[in-house]
Amino acid sequence: MNRVLVIGGGPAGMMAAGQAATHGAEVVLLEKMQRPGKKIAISGKGRCNLSNSAELPEFIRHFGRNGRFLYQAFQHFFNQDLIDFFEGQGLKLATERGGRIFPAQGNAPDVVRTLRQWLEELSVSLRPNSAVEKLLIDNGKITGVLCNGHPVYGRAVILAPGGASYPATGSSGDGYKLAASVGHSIVPIRPGLVPVITQGDLAQRLAGLHLRNVGVRLIINDATGGKKGSKRQKKCTAFGELLFMKYGLSGPVILTLSNQIVDALQADKQVQLILDLKPALDEQKLDARLQRDVQNRHKEPMQSMLRGLMPEKLVQVCLDEIGLAPDRLAGEMRAKERKRLRFWLKNIPLTITGYRGFTEAIITCGGVSLKEVDPRTMASTCCPGLYLAGEVLDLQADTGGYNLQAAFSTGWIAGRSAVEHCLN
Ligand SMILES: Cc1cc2nc3c(=O)[nH]c(=O)nc-3n(C[C@H](O)[C@H](O)[C@H](O)COP(=O)(O)OP(=O)(O)OC[C@H]3O[C@@H](n4cnc5c(N)ncnc54)[C@H](O)[C@@H]3O)c2cc1C
Repeated sequence: MNRVLVIGGGPAGMMAAGQAATHGAEVVLLEKMQRPGKKIAISGKGRCNLSNSAELPEFIRHFGRNGRFLYQAFQHFFNQDLIDFFEGQGLKLATERGGRIFPAQGNAPDVVRTLRQWLEELSVSLRPNSAVEKLLIDNGKITGVLCNGHPVYGRAVILAPGGASYPATGSSGDGYKLAASVGHSIVPIRPGLVPVITQGDLAQRLAGLHLRNVGVRLIINDATGGKKGSKRQKKCTAFGELLFMKYGLSGPVILTLSNQIVDALQADKQVQLILDLKPALDEQKLDARLQRDVQNRHKEPMQSMLRGLMPEKLVQVCLDEIGLAPDRLAGEMRAKERKRLRFWLKNIPLTITGYRGFTEAIITCGGVSLKEVDPRTMASTCCPGLYLAGEVLDLQADTGGYNLQAAFSTGWIAGRSAVEHCLN
């Protein structure tokens, strides 16, 4: 019997199923939800950022220290292979700013449709509403799964049920329990690429405000570290779009920094963000700009002058923060006050007190330990016949198409390796 069972109809599972079928296996794809690919359909704000055109070393860097695990999978199936695959199936792709690769029509459900059509042509048996509850093991080898209370048998099983984020799409952490049941270690999971919660009411006052070019400095203080109780500090900077929420901050620049923030908060460290609203101007240039504005608009009230410097929503907050009366004339601004304004524009401090949960996290950090998975085949080293692919693994990357490429590439390898296992 060369039957391969695939658990999970996400990008990893669909790619694995198609590869296994292409190489001669009878494939059953078990999907918990009514339809496969629910997460793909909402990915990239409904446009699906499938991959990135970055070169291999840079691509790998976006996965942090676990990225090396992906070298072999990417050697076999990388970004250009993914483009060739989808274009070969009739879905045209386009590369945008930052190397981000999308369907040319910008429609994520087209990606799901393309994959489903491919699987249909390959006669993959897709079973929706099929939740796998257990892996069946006999004499230390996998023999199948228990699904909706019934056994389903196969020579090899590919575990691709995703992580724990956005559970409404079907990925609600089942994979960790299934993997742990056959002896896999699970690196503690935490929400990744997730909005953060800030102290005070600043974010609430600015809720809904979207800023495009903001500099963000992340400062992590290790209150417990250092000699004689002194504080150790870690700093890093990022630049990009930011969104104020009622509870705190979101937007690409925050999501990018969020994995470091979550880890620091979990380690009881103090986390602060410093926002720079004028990253393109150094102190001197900003001062010259403020002096010019004060001169040109000296007969206008302060609030009207500030509207030329920042979005309307920020004006009242700015006046309050630096203690200026809104109706005083701009020409009356003292050098001391201008200095305070200049400092505030480049140094808005926000203390981070927490982060949102898995329901709002784009990815899950942590997962099945990579030490127990062969990077050449995606085979489990704990259970012969079991293969793992996608977000269930302890792999996490920045936004930019890296996570989906990893799901497709690990799925590609797992599908082929599972067939080889069946033939041996
Ligand atoms: C809102 C959002 C936007 C995103 N945008 C992007 C983006 O633009 N680019 C990018 O690279 N990444 C993006 N990501 C991340 C990316 O979608 C995931 O990393 C990727 O989908 C993981 O693929 P996967 O196949 O491992 O798991 P999933 O896509 O989560 O699929 C797992 C599947 O397994 C099924 N399943 C779970 N448990 C069981 C079970 N017990 N039995 C049977 N089936 C089961 C689930 O129902 C699901 O269909 C986004 C994520 C979110 C939440």
